[in-house]
Amino acid sequence: MNNYEKAYKLIFSSHHIVIASHINPDGDTLGSMLGLGIALKKAGKKVTFFNCEKDLPKKFDFLPSYNKIKSVIPEKYDLFISVDAASFKRLGIDQSIKTPSICFDHHKTNTNFCTVNIVNPDSISTSLVILDFLETFELAIPKESAISLYTALVEDSGFFKFDRVDSKTFEKAAKLVKLGANPNKISNFLTNRNSLAKIRLMQRYLEALILKQNGTICISKITLEDFEQTGASKSDSDEFVNIGLSLATVKLSIFCYEIDYKNIKFSLRSKSDEIDCSKIAKKFGGGGHKRAAGFTAKINEYDDIIRVLSAKC
Ligand code: 5GP
Ligand code: MN
Repeated sequence: MNNYEKAYKLIFSSHHIVIASHINPDGDTLGSMLGLGIALKKAGKKVTFFNCEKDLPKKFDFLPSYNKIKSVIPEKYDLFISVDAASFKRLGIDQSIKTPSICFDHHKTNTNFCTVNIVNPDSISTSLVILDFLETFELAIPKESAISLYTALVEDSGFFKFDRVDSKTFEKAAKLVKLGANPNKISNFLTNRNSLAKIRLMQRYLEALILKQNGTICISKITLEDFEQTGASKSDSDEFVNIGLSLATVKLSIFCYEIDYKNIKFSLRSKSDEIDCSKIAKKFGGGGHKRAAGFTAKINEYDDIIRVLSAKC
């Protein structure tokens, strides 16, 4: 039996499936979780959606079943599925999983932490790994599932702009559109609903932006005070790192925000073949992809980390 068959067997011999997405959820993890879960519900399974965060990014509130996502794991279930998480730690779960488990992912740093691991680092999004699985077994893909998987795809491909976008990406997108995903509506939900608080936070990001190494590295930081004074939330800062990357001379964009008084989150983005963000992030206990990666550190380590990162270009 190959991995697909093993996963299919696990799914269809189970009754109640928990599907879990990663901490600091993005469009790919949420869209993949809901897209898969809605299809499995259609196939007769009981499904619980899990994310460890109590406040989910509002940007994704149009996704079908968004309101059904729970921040606690139910007591009883018989199969656990992880989506878009490279390691168990990324799920923010403090108990061990005692049931069989399946991992759907596209991170090359994946630690194969489940019973069956379906990991394709060549796939631009986890949602396309899931779409391929659903197609292989000719499972019905309801409109709500297509909307979720399409959202995940546009988010992880930067609206079809990133590195791994190829003809197959568009073929899969076309399939999801045929199944009912509306590109214009989804794009409006994702990009045209900013709050004033977010724009004010963006102002702080721009004010704090500095360049290093002949303008090849940019760094900016958002503090707890910035969040408090603007009224913006953590997820409002999700795309800021790309503003720095848009500067002509910048090869590596570094964005940090203070999570609390002790911890700070780093996001790294590269547009140069010479800089592998995932390798850098791994050194600091994080992970991700070549062009986009991240890690969390202690606030008192900030200056030292910036010194190390600034020597990269
Ligand atoms: P972001 O900078 O948007 O949080 O994340 C970019 C990419 O890096 C995503 O694929 C995300 O899953 C991954 N990533 C971000 N932070 C971490 C981390 O702390 N650990 C690991 N393993 N991956 C991370
Ligand atoms: Mn992803």
